[in-house]
Amino acid sequence: MAVKPIRLFGDPVLRTPAEPVVDFDKELRTLVRDLTETMLDEGGAGLAAPQLGVGLRLFAFDVDDVVGHLINPVLSFPDEEEQDGPEGCLSIPGLYFDTKRRLNVVASGQDMHGEPVQVVGTALLSRCVQHETDHLDGILFVDRLDPETKKEAMKAIREAEWNNQVAPQIKVSPHPLFGKTR
Ligand SMILES: [Zn+2]
Repeated sequence: MAVKPIRLFGDPVLRTPAEPVVDFDKELRTLVRDLTETMLDEGGAGLAAPQLGVGLRLFAFDVDDVVGHLINPVLSFPDEEEQDGPEGCLSIPGLYFDTKRRLNVVASGQDMHGEPVQVVGTALLSRCVQHETDHLDGILFVDRLDPETKKEAMKAIREAEWNNQVAPQIKVSPHPLFGKTR
């Protein structure tokens, strides 16, 4: 198994735009496998490479029993239709907020062999593709919330158990200036 730890909200890698994939080599295929296995292990609908700490433009998805991946995605929207509904993120575990997305999407990109592929998605698959492509631009779904809901989300993140578990590491910082006692 190649289940890897998932980076959580607050990790700078989640805010860093990812680089296009240029080498379709064995290393990339291993990354696709790691992404897929970690996503399936966590029961997520999608997982983007930056969530495993890798700054490359690819993600895996698992929607309606279809498991796949997409590399260097470019999104286009065939219409103006929107959807609104609960969205979550493996990097912001346990928290779900209604997020507006486009209903339909056409995502063009490549597979792990460098062959051109297209993912045509509606509803959940479309939501997933938009969410994961945002990750590649350093955007998280909480950024898409209306101001009121975003305030609520940021409060919930501050109070989340997984977030507070990170805090003790600050005490062992070799830079006392940045140390905070809670
Ligand atoms: Zn996510």
